[in-house]
Amino acid sequence: MKYLEDLIKEQGEIWPGGIVKVDSFLNHQIDWKLYQEMGKEFYRLFKDDGINKIMTVEASGIGIACVAAQYFKVPMVFAKKYKTSNIDSDLYSAKVHSFTHGNDYNMVVSRKYVNKSDRILLIDDFLANGQALLGLKSIIEQAGATLCGCGIAIEKGFQPGGKLLRDQGIRVESLAIIKSVTDDTIEF
Ligand code: 5GP
Repeated sequence: MKYLEDLIKEQGEIWPGGIVKVDSFLNHQIDWKLYQEMGKEFYRLFKDDGINKIMTVEASGIGIACVAAQYFKVPMVFAKKYKTSNIDSDLYSAKVHSFTHGNDYNMVVSRKYVNKSDRILLIDDFLANGQALLGLKSIIEQAGATLCGCGIAIEKGFQPGGKLLRDQGIRVESLAIIKSVTDDTIEF
């Protein structure tokens, strides 16, 4: 998506460890027009897949997933990051390694909000090593629901997540794919 790529080129910053900071339009201050365009594009890509629920993980996926949900006219459910290891029996949970924080956490979703009749589109802001999406996939499998695909704003193509998921037969649609970064350049 050209508008997203232009914003990344103009305003994105490269931080050590291959972290792309896009706080001025995606992760802190939000460009409403970008969010609207992304929601519309995810709808165009997945409108024929019978999606009846959108899922993401807190926090930065929530805004994008919520805007996308308006186009699909379906509920959006976000997994919560759970601080303790004692998981209630009324929750589905998955252990995930956080790329940005370097630690493990449990993501949880109430059993009330995902069930086997659900056809789910996963949405997230970034795809790096794919661990967040694999955690959500595990929750979908525990519930017996169907994963229809993943809609990603920015995929970092120089990290293995995209290949890992696509090799499992999962449809992954990324609106911008960054091929490589150096200290001061970003290539698509
Ligand atoms: P993964 O699980 O694919 O390794 O990482 C995806 C998650 O880590 C996303 O939910 C996103 O919030 C965060 N993330 C990964 N890479 C970046 C990055 O370069 N910049 C930002 N802002 N977040 C990232």
